[in-house]
Amino acid sequence: MTAPVTTRTSDELIRAEEPVLAHNYHPLPVVVARAEGAWVEDVEGRRYLDMLAGYSALNFGHRHPALTEAAHRQLDRLTLTSRAFHNDRLAEFAERLAALTGQDMVLPMNTGAEAVESGIKVARKWAYEVKGVPADRATIVVAADNFHGRTTTIVGFSTDETARSGFGPFTPGFRIVPYNDPAALEAAVDETTAAVLIEPVQGEAGVIVPDDGYLTGVRELTRRAGCLFLADEIQSGLGRTGRTLAVEHEDVVPDVVLLGKALGGGIVPVSAVVGRREVLGVLRPGEHGSTFGGNPLSAAVGTAVVGLLETGEFQRRAAELGAVLREGLAELAGRGVVGFRSRGLWAGVDVDPAIGTGREISERLMREGVLVKDTHGSTIRLAPPLTVTEEELRSALASLEKVLAS
Ligand SMILES: *Cc1c(COP(=O)(O)O)cnc(C)c1O
Repeated sequence: MTAPVTTRTSDELIRAEEPVLAHNYHPLPVVVARAEGAWVEDVEGRRYLDMLAGYSALNFGHRHPALTEAAHRQLDRLTLTSRAFHNDRLAEFAERLAALTGQDMVLPMNTGAEAVESGIKVARKWAYEVKGVPADRATIVVAADNFHGRTTTIVGFSTDETARSGFGPFTPGFRIVPYNDPAALEAAVDETTAAVLIEPVQGEAGVIVPDDGYLTGVRELTRRAGCLFLADEIQSGLGRTGRTLAVEHEDVVPDVVLLGKALGGGIVPVSAVVGRREVLGVLRPGEHGSTFGGNPLSAAVGTAVVGLLETGEFQRRAAELGAVLREGLAELAGRGVVGFRSRGLWAGVDVDPAIGTGREISERLMREGVLVKDTHGSTIRLAPPLTVTEEELRSALASLEKVLAS
């Protein structure tokens, strides 16, 4: 492939980061230098199967040719205008993304956390202007063990002490209920409720799939109570679970869907709030914005991502290979796996703590040439690119079996 950009070894690069890079991550000791499809290669040329896929930012694998081509072409024409002017890529991106998700309007942003923040702002404004909630009284109901990003407002309604502690004071107006508990949700919703904000599958919590009917219940409750259903599909969306959106498993259409991660094709950060006109229509010029949101490079890549999803091929692969993943994990039950949850090509696997922590299992898998990431305690998360082959997936499962047996 291409010539190396550094003469330093992996160990030297890891040591070099320590004094100059903020310690907000604890990466596995692998230094990736290049990648293609489902495979990454480190500085020394060792190859690894990527079973994390950038937390689903790489649903189409590394450097999918349709996406890099869209990016290269756009790089040579126009990259940024700001929203002070129109650009010739944004209309098509919004049209096709709205059509793909069955919604009316698109608010383009960059990172996932920005999409969540924007969704919160829109829901509050809708509550005051449309629902008639008294000024500054709007509440938003969220679920325990949520992950919606890292801003001060968002970590303020996290239940993860590591994410929260030391960052207060926090934004008021959030109520936290247990996930997958319709009665608790119903009890928390009242006339001040602007929205219920949940992940259709809780990713960071360990790929927690709610009971059948839960999402339908959320939809019915929010409709009855006259508040919005905001679905954070930043990790669960865009093919990962075998459908374009995870809410489609119950044929549910939320009022607002938050997208990010894979929307940028693993190339640029692209996020979006997509929703009904009645909701996104509350924003008027000057009330919200983003310098980079909707820039032509992001719009070009995002449109190419939508183009891949329009074929249905990736959703189909995720569903079919998801069955292979599920079967493989079921075979490991009682052989090091004490429990697992999966939907499509996405699984949270609870490993017998006697065998090792999630971190230790991840390190052992790394030495076998498979990259995964632990979530909490002894849980590891599997989320390969949707381009992974059945053979590659089976070899990753074989590596997991080997690691658990040793
Ligand atoms: C990753 C993630 C976010 C935050 O996205 P960033 O791009 O890291 O800000 C929000 N919600 C969910 C469900 C996520 O998985």
